Amino acid sequence: VRTHPTDVAVIGAGVAGLGVAWRAAQRGLAVTVLDPAPGSGASHVAAGMIAPVTEVAYGEEAVLGVHLASAGRWPRFAAELEEATGMSVGYRAHGTLAVAFDADDLRSLADLHAFQRSLGLDAEALASRECRDLEPALAPGVRGGLHVPGDHQVDTRPTWAALLAAAEGAGASLRPERVEGVVVEGDRAVGVRLGDGALLPATTVVLAAGSWSGGIIGVPPEAVPPVRPVKGQILRLRGPERPALLGRTVRGVVAGGSVYLVPRADGRLVVGATVEEQGFDTTVTAEAVYELLRDALRLVPGVATLELVEASAGLRPGTPDNAPLLGPSLLDGLVLATGHYRHGFLLLPVTADGIGEYLASGVLPDDLAPLSPHRFVGHGVGA
Ligand SMILES: Cc1cc2nc3c(=O)[nH]c(=O)nc-3n(C[C@H](O)[C@H](O)[C@H](O)COP(=O)(O)OP(=O)(O)OC[C@H]3O[C@@H](n4cnc5c(N)ncnc54)[C@H](O)[C@@H]3O)c2cc1C
Repeated sequence: VRTHPTDVAVIGAGVAGLGVAWRAAQRGLAVTVLDPAPGSGASHVAAGMIAPVTEVAYGEEAVLGVHLASAGRWPRFAAELEEATGMSVGYRAHGTLAVAFDADDLRSLADLHAFQRSLGLDAEALASRECRDLEPALAPGVRGGLHVPGDHQVDTRPTWAALLAAAEGAGASLRPERVEGVVVEGDRAVGVRLGDGALLPATTVVLAAGSWSGGIIGVPPEAVPPVRPVKGQILRLRGPERPALLGRTVRGVVAGGSVYLVPRADGRLVVGATVEEQGFDTTVTAEAVYELLRDALRLVPGVATLELVEASAGLRPGTPDNAPLLGPSLLDGLVLATGHYRHGFLLLPVTADGIGEYLASGVLPDDLAPLSPHRFVGHGVGA
């Protein structure tokens, strides 16, 4: 069985797939997005921090430029998404405060600050009192911190919903179907095989299936993206809108561990997250919920009175170097938009714009060059 052909078949309706679908449809391409459970992946549980400075990591300096560029595009991207749909995405340019719980934690924040400054990033060291001047709900024992005025957040579920509305509004269609495999003829991808056995012919296939991107059959071994699931458990709480418990995102180093508290404008609070190598397991464990709440309360005792609304787990699509795979793969006709690990929301503008541009013009923007899937070829991790 063959179904009506499409220009672009997108596998996966998380933020990566929908962002690409929106931009490609805006450029006049016929786009079909396939997903048996749209929006059920990592995009559903993420916190939504747009935080290239507080999340800068040793050894990942090469992608810092892309992170900063994508964060810089967020205000316009959010405004465009809101204008296209009439829906709010909750982008809040409120900055981030990273704080330390004990003396060792303060030393590790000082190391982070030195690293940030060596890269020319904007972060200011604050004494304990100055931290509490900014965020009066912080525990008096907090040792000190870093104020990062440029790290912001977006509300994740409204963003996903707006992306879907925008993609459909631009003419893309979402089919709630599982892709069994990529269909290859000669040496190029010519479409996808659906769960019911039907073939959907497509000029280009975009693989945006998050942590599941490595498991789509039919892709030759050298073109399979080296993506693995990295589990994250996360909590959602609710408090009064006024007075807000926190005015900005608070990240903490707490007795060597880390926790973050992301306040939405309406009093909701997201507390996360664990980082676990557990395969495709999404069990919520008592230990993780306990540790997240314990560390959040150590920093912000007022969390104790909030309503606990949800505990969930998601799978971040990790890669060998923690950077995404964006651009054409080694199989002609197959394009990757996956492997966003901890930064799928941060990287949404560059992913959607860059892959959308490539699909429409055949030219990959220069800023995506460091993220080419070809960087792993010949390193023994491409299969
Ligand atoms: C706890 C946690 C907190 C996070 N916090 C942040 C944050 O603060 N900031 C940030 O930038 N990022 C954050 N992230 C990372 C971010 O969530 C991910 O990078 C991003 O959501 C990945 O999006 P995606 O579309 O690639 O994958 P997903 O959202 O996982 O979507 C993949 C989709 O593919 C579909 N699919 C799978 N197999 C098939 C198939 N065979 N056929 C069709 N469809 C298929 C699935 O149903 C799913 O809907 C966090 C992640 C976690 C887990």
